[in-house]
Amino acid sequence: MTDKKAPEKEEVVKTNFIHQQIDADLAEGKNGNRVHTRFPPEPNGYLHIGHAKSICLNFGTAEKYNGLYNLRFDDTNPSKEETEYVESIKEDVRWLGFDWGDREFFASDYFDKLYDFAVELIQNGLAYVDDQTPEEISAQRGTPTRPGTESPFRTRSVEENLDLFARMKAGEFQDGEKVLRAKVDMASPNMHMRDPIMYRIMHVHHHRTGDKWCIYPMYDYAHGQSDFWEGITHSICTLEFEVHRPLYDWFVDHLKDAEYRPRQIEFARLNLSYTVMSKRKLLELVKDNHVNGWDDPRMPTISGLRRRGYTPTSIRNFADRIGVTKTNGMIDVGLLEHSVREDLNKSAQRVMGVLNPLKVVITNFPEGEVDMVDAINNHEDESAGTRKVPFTRELYIERDDFMEEPPRKFFRLAPGREVRLRYAYFVTCQEVVKDENGEIVELRCTYDPDSRGGKSPDGRKVKATLHWVSATEAVEAEVRLYDRLFNDMDPQGHKEVDFKEFMNADSLQILPKCYVEPFVKDAKALDHFQFERLGYFNVDKDTTAEKLVFNRTVALRDSWAKANKK
Ligand code: ATP
Ligand code: MG
Repeated sequence: MTDKKAPEKEEVVKTNFIHQQIDADLAEGKNGNRVHTRFPPEPNGYLHIGHAKSICLNFGTAEKYNGLYNLRFDDTNPSKEETEYVESIKEDVRWLGFDWGDREFFASDYFDKLYDFAVELIQNGLAYVDDQTPEEISAQRGTPTRPGTESPFRTRSVEENLDLFARMKAGEFQDGEKVLRAKVDMASPNMHMRDPIMYRIMHVHHHRTGDKWCIYPMYDYAHGQSDFWEGITHSICTLEFEVHRPLYDWFVDHLKDAEYRPRQIEFARLNLSYTVMSKRKLLELVKDNHVNGWDDPRMPTISGLRRRGYTPTSIRNFADRIGVTKTNGMIDVGLLEHSVREDLNKSAQRVMGVLNPLKVVITNFPEGEVDMVDAINNHEDESAGTRKVPFTRELYIERDDFMEEPPRKFFRLAPGREVRLRYAYFVTCQEVVKDENGEIVELRCTYDPDSRGGKSPDGRKVKATLHWVSATEAVEAEVRLYDRLFNDMDPQGHKEVDFKEFMNADSLQILPKCYVEPFVKDAKALDHFQFERLGYFNVDKDTTAEKLVFNRTVALRDSWAKANKK
């Protein structure tokens, strides 16, 4: 089940240095005035909120310029890639509201072309087969201030290189026995130009090409040409690729028909406080069961955020709000929470739900009678109308809305005190019933029949309005409350300490027996609600005909911001 609501088309992408660059290219008449972008995920994990930023930027930019965008799977490393990831990535991008049409590509679509181009580079003396081990090659690379050492195999003849490369492809060698390297410059101040590896031997089954290949191109060899062959005009990526750009350009320069060159533009990746974002770390959380799968609502994955109750609009607005910069920084996760609160405030159906129920018996209300009172569906949206909520003799209120001995500033229910039950009546607590352990099990109250609709009958005031549900008419539900997965602002930022040391042991709280007004009875997975006074909730996919399960997406206010102010 997916959320069918399309994101609102506001001005999604404001102007920024990327758009200024595109404006300049268009003004010069570059690329026949085309704007064509791509998002190139490696299918080795699920997408996270950082990828969402990149998607919104790449695809949002193409939309802004009425251009085209491609989804391209960078599937050059078959040892870590799986079809499951390809499918999840497509679902997530679609859910965000982007439609790449038939422009779905795979780096593996270009394996033949890439091979032919490698042969061409060998023929032109620009690539060679190296017999050294990866360790030896790495030791010869030098440092940024010290040039590398040329490989003893660098001067192999073209014929020998052609022969060896063909035999690498034919499967004559073991993994790691040989590599193909570009012959660029071992003394280049840019380490990526020091004869980078183009191909490695991997006798591994590929999710699309099967067992056709046992040599696979490196990302750095495949990426620039893939962009070129797809006619990408603006290749927007994160800052770490800036130093790879000269290499991409070097390869494209040597393509025979390179009549244009994709322009790579780099931006700072998204880092969120209290969050880990590296796919390797997220995979570790999943594999070692620290969370319940990639779509665990505590995960920063798009599938986790979706299950948690985030909307596509909230994520796109967030991406828009944080903008793009050239310097790495950290975004407060509170801003992401703000975006979903803001969106759901406009659209979420209001209901009443009680998470920690305390029974209330209205002693002067007739047994068996049901009084259907009117409740407003959304105060932010009059067109949402009203609904009926059953008021009965037995009710539940929130346990912490009652105190037997209230301190001075506690205005909610207490012995002898009168409060308003929202949309219903004024009630007064007459008696507190306890069990043999002294635990409060029931309140006996009276109601004022003249206060129907929660209106004061004679101008007398009450200081508190409580939410409630009918004990006999409400539906039972399990509610899952979430807190941050990590206690530390920057769990990845500690060199000496593993990020998992900072996991919050209380990030998931399950309340097995909550009560929600019957309105939610037929709700489907992913449906959104505001539980009045408690936050935004959505129906979890674990919901069955027997059991309704809700996730709390976010509380109504940012409790952390409050805690930090104290
Ligand atoms: P990770 O570093 O988390 O393992 P990755 O960058 O290797 O992920 P890819 O699948 O290669 O993952 O990423 C696809 C695209 O998403 C890349 O172009 C990359 O620049 C971009 N991207 C990845 N992480 C972020 C992020 N945190 N913020 C913005 N863009 C990102
Ligand atoms: Mg990557």
